[in-house]
Amino acid sequence: MFDYNIFIQGFPGKSSTHGGLGWSTVTLLSHNDTHIIIDVGSFGVRPLILDKLKARGLSPSDISMVLLTHTHWDHCVNWTLFPNATIVVGQEDMKWALNEPPGGWHVPELYVKELHSSSQMRQVVHLEEIVPGITAHQTDGHSPGHLAYTVDNGDYDLIFSGDAAKNRAELLSRDADMTLNLSDSRESIDYLWRLWRKKENSVLIPGHDIPMKLVDGKTVYLHERKADLQYWFSDTLEKYTTIELADDAALAEQIK
Ligand SMILES: [Zn+2]
Repeated sequence: MFDYNIFIQGFPGKSSTHGGLGWSTVTLLSHNDTHIIIDVGSFGVRPLILDKLKARGLSPSDISMVLLTHTHWDHCVNWTLFPNATIVVGQEDMKWALNEPPGGWHVPELYVKELHSSSQMRQVVHLEEIVPGITAHQTDGHSPGHLAYTVDNGDYDLIFSGDAAKNRAELLSRDADMTLNLSDSRESIDYLWRLWRKKENSVLIPGHDIPMKLVDGKTVYLHERKADLQYWFSDTLEKYTTIELADDAALAEQIK
């Protein structure tokens, strides 16, 4: 039985002027003294991850395993923070990422190369059980060889969809933004739905959204969204503006 703790909430958005925000989900999975992190985010969240670990009395060296859904910069670069962790990555994903030319699709070339030559790396394939109860599922489209992970908690599963379905909108519309192969993405989203419907209380945790559950066939968010932007258009650092990136009223209603 694994407890999950969302360290960093994924955010379902991008910028028309500054590209992908890369605000991806980082989750701690714990079972007794075993601590696993699913996706490790990018540079901006490093201090936040370290703070969250500290708040639980943990340090990066206590993490025994990191599960990467894929090797895009916003999900993988912080693998270097965890010296004692086995870093799990999809075999197909790694093969693809290594062959992407510099400037290729969101791949942090040097971090991927370093991971590939590291003794910490473990490559896995579709339906491989990584540790008892945790299984990888190849879910292509967003990138070739992308992996989702399921965690069998008996009555319910935790399903980490990564960017195979980045957010609720992709799950519900069965359509995908920012994908290398739209028809593969659609198949992967169908596959995720089949995993989700297997057990009534399963929780789906997307790569860029907050966890949700199916209640009477409706998706219900399980956490309150917390996201904001702070900026200085002023003359001093003391005076800044915060914009809350909150849910609209309909979603806020569902959260209750
Ligand atoms: Zn992402």
